[in-house]
Amino acid sequence: MTTMYYEKDADLALLKDKTIAILGYGSQGHAHAQNLRDSGCNVIVGQRPGSANYDLAKKHKFEPMSIEDATKKGDLVNILLPDEVQGDIYRQYIRPHLKPGNILMCSHGFNVHFGQVEAPEGVDSVLVAPKGPGHLVRSEFEKGGGVPCLIALNPGASEESRALGLAYAKGIGGARAGVIETTFAEETETDLFGEQVVLCGGVSALVKAGYDTLVEAGYQPEMAFFECMHELKLIVDLFYQGGLNYMRYSVSNTAEYGDYTRGPRIVTDETKQEMKKILEEIQSGQFAREWILENKANAPGFKATRRREREHGIEEVGRKLRRLMSWIDSKEV
Ligand code: NDP
Ligand code: MG
Repeated sequence: MTTMYYEKDADLALLKDKTIAILGYGSQGHAHAQNLRDSGCNVIVGQRPGSANYDLAKKHKFEPMSIEDATKKGDLVNILLPDEVQGDIYRQYIRPHLKPGNILMCSHGFNVHFGQVEAPEGVDSVLVAPKGPGHLVRSEFEKGGGVPCLIALNPGASEESRALGLAYAKGIGGARAGVIETTFAEETETDLFGEQVVLCGGVSALVKAGYDTLVEAGYQPEMAFFECMHELKLIVDLFYQGGLNYMRYSVSNTAEYGDYTRGPRIVTDETKQEMKKILEEIQSGQFAREWILENKANAPGFKATRRREREHGIEEVGRKLRRLMSWIDSKEV
């Protein structure tokens, strides 16, 4: 049975005499820090100088300090740095300054689950992970709502740590929407699986393969772009509002019939077998080891692939067409 917590299950007063150190003022960091402060908590920010995020923290009336100093002053210390840098920064600047009774927090379990961030004796690890990007965590909170959160604790964590984690989730607005109890293993493994197989990896590969098939058959790239990438948003919006059934209700009967009869020929038993293999690589730590080592080598394969992917035909056509669609909030990075 899924355990869900709401506002009534969490007590912000538990954080009254605590200092919360938010390490990193990026996507999640800026949202957590501001929401907690607006909820009446004592928040300090650890953010290196010389970047736009440092200036933003200043603009938002925080006094950003080094990660080391923020860790020393914090009772709850939340590491909101990119996952691939957390291990090194933790060992060098965070772990030496943690004291028994402190709580070590994160918003994704990768480093704790795969042993890159190991809390010292007397320190519990608590994950509070919003199921949405940081800007939404902030904007929903400002509207009086919140983004649903996950909570997980290390085995043997105290009830006090759970209560503090729930208070934290309430402070960022998560308890308004609901906080689901999970484990570090479940959060980490399902998150990696989702992004690799469906959300980022699966969808991007599907879109590119569809586009390439049409272009190779001689159709105009612009047509292929609209069919295989642009219109995807309309379909996903329907999923979001009412699941597969609402999408099928909204599209034509012809599209619905094509969905039932052709879809299973694209995602086949063979695809499912590969999904299982990918899941096993996640569970065994093989993926984590590969990604950690890639970063230790300064990410040569990652950077090369990123560069090449930007040059794919669908990206070039997309850039051109998005400029003509003024109603799209188009982005280039
Ligand atoms: P961001 O990339 O947005 O922010 C990273 C922060 O870390 C910035 O303040 C950045 O500062 C700082 N930073 C980066 N590299 C270093 C370094 N080498 N040394 C010191 N500081 C550094 O991260 P996110 O907010 O996206 O992710 C934080 C955590 O939240 C991750 O664990 C992620 O998995 C998790 N999470 C993220 C979600 C999201 O939607 N983004 C959703 C749920 C969880 P600077 O500006 O100086 O580089
Ligand atoms: Mg995810």
